Amino acid sequence: MRALSLAVLLACGAALAQPQVTLVERQSFDGDELGAPEGYTHRMRLAIVLLEGGGWTRQGAVLALLQAVPILGQCGVALERVELFVLEVPASHLDFSTAAAREPARAYSVPRPAVYLVRDTRSRPAFEAEAIGRGNSASRPEIADTVWMTSGVRDPGVALAHELAHVLMDSGEHSGEEGNLMRDETSLKNRRLSAAQCTRLRDTAKANGLLK
Ligand SMILES: [Zn+2]
Repeated sequence: MRALSLAVLLACGAALAQPQVTLVERQSFDGDELGAPEGYTHRMRLAIVLLEGGGWTRQGAVLALLQAVPILGQCGVALERVELFVLEVPASHLDFSTAAAREPARAYSVPRPAVYLVRDTRSRPAFEAEAIGRGNSASRPEIADTVWMTSGVRDPGVALAHELAHVLMDSGEHSGEEGNLMRDETSLKNRRLSAAQCTRLRDTAKANGLLK
């Protein structure tokens, strides 16, 4: 039985090993086009990877970004440049799982931090969005410093800022503070970052090469 499940696992591994990943489109936005917050001290280059056919539109991606910019701006972080990659992947790779995620990440590498816009998730519990920092990527280094957002995510802009903050802080911690972005429930009312969170975000992200 054990041998059989291993064989099945190996077969799945082989099936996932070489997915056809094709770049459909690549677009670059200057940070200024997305509204740099006043008096910023740190700059971030962000990659957004949209999986074609996963339910995300380019417009939806940009709208989420426009909402996330002022939230991260509270910490003096501005976007320097955003690169949008549209990838065509097999339908088997449209939903997030560690196994499915590492293949497009390997097949087409993009700068980090990177946000992947996927159809759904196979994780249980099924999170609408997930962040993979350094601390939770030891066994899956290909997807370190990435965010995975499903097409059904509520309040995409806030969710994007929340997950990016996890990556930048390299922490899965949540806050119980009223109105805080890092409350475990994403909501338009929860957008604030504290001074201590900002310090941690800037220091950790800079040390990890995710901010300049
Ligand atoms: Zn969270």
